[in-house]
Amino acid sequence: GGLRRASLEVAALGRKLAGDLGGTLEAVILGEKISEEVTSLLGQYGAQQVHALEHPLLARYTARAYAMALSPLVKEVDPEIFLLAGTTLGRDLAPRVATSLGTGLAADCVHAALGEDGILVLKRPVFAGKAYAEVAIPKARPQMATIRPNVMPAGNPSPDSKPQVHRVSCALDETRVRTRVKEVVKASSGLVELSEAKIIVSGGRGMKGPENFSLLEDLAKPLGAAVGASRAAVDAGWREHKWQVGQTGKTVSPDLYVACGISGAIQHLAGMSSSKCIVAINKDPEAPILKVADYGIVGDLFAVVPLLTEEFRKLLSSS
Ligand code: FAD
Repeated sequence: GGLRRASLEVAALGRKLAGDLGGTLEAVILGEKISEEVTSLLGQYGAQQVHALEHPLLARYTARAYAMALSPLVKEVDPEIFLLAGTTLGRDLAPRVATSLGTGLAADCVHAALGEDGILVLKRPVFAGKAYAEVAIPKARPQMATIRPNVMPAGNPSPDSKPQVHRVSCALDETRVRTRVKEVVKASSGLVELSEAKIIVSGGRGMKGPENFSLLEDLAKPLGAAVGASRAAVDAGWREHKWQVGQTGKTVSPDLYVACGISGAIQHLAGMSSSKCIVAINKDPEAPILKVADYGIVGDLFAVVPLLTEEFRKLLSSS
């Protein structure tokens, strides 16, 4: 019923690129009944036109139904550039749409700007974040990309911008939609999701056991942070996989990432090295995580984390 921050970031980027190209920004949103609140928010973040695609089978995301609804619209509008948020959903959907349109797609981009020839140049991490590749889609259209969340600013909304809204009831061939979502069961409540978190506190093998993660939860609470984990902690069964950060877990780019008892293996760095500020707490001064950290605390996390929690509590209660 709402918009993710990642969508607003993509809207702001789209508006900038549309301006550079001398074009307009059109947004598309899929659902069963799309509220005016959502369409007007897209307008405030830069969309001049909003296509609201509605159908009962779009109430919950399934890759096939969404791709079947989206591809014909994109074909009809025929944009130069088509961007999606690089969320789990966006990265599932984008390749299906790109394939059906016969165009190219750059996934998980961290930068996008027009080159001198007016063609979009997209930058994306490769080799688990060791290097960046610049990708362009010179001939096929639209030029498609998914944009990594939390690396580009969403900017400020302009409350007076009113988009033109086109409501379209989709003619989906229901027999071709083979997946039906019957129910969505929320696994946890009250916890901040990794992909939405501005602050993440993560623990690794150095936490020594699942019970000690309560230390990180205590630190996370006053900060409104999510609690992540390394693969070592997940493989040991201390945390669920959905909290894993890294190459085979989630890619995150929060404003602040606090790594506790995590060595900083390349596969872990692949998931968090684009965080804006990295704090590492590790008792080994040679741990690789300290090389990427903006602030490194060499010490025993069992002594340091409670002290930090205490200080944050004091600071935040007095502000
Ligand atoms: P360790 O490397 O064992 O590090 C523990 C750290 O804790 C050490 O640096 C130690 O000095 C410190 N420490 C111990 N006690 C304390 C204390 N009391 N106070 C302070 N510090 C302390 N890993 C991921 O995280 N995410 C992934 O998505 C991922 N995907 C992978 C995919 C593949 C194909 C492969 C091969 C590996 C992948 N890995 C991934 C695993 C990765 O290579 C590392 O094994 C893993 O990240 C190590 O986790 P860790 O840092 O928690 O543990």
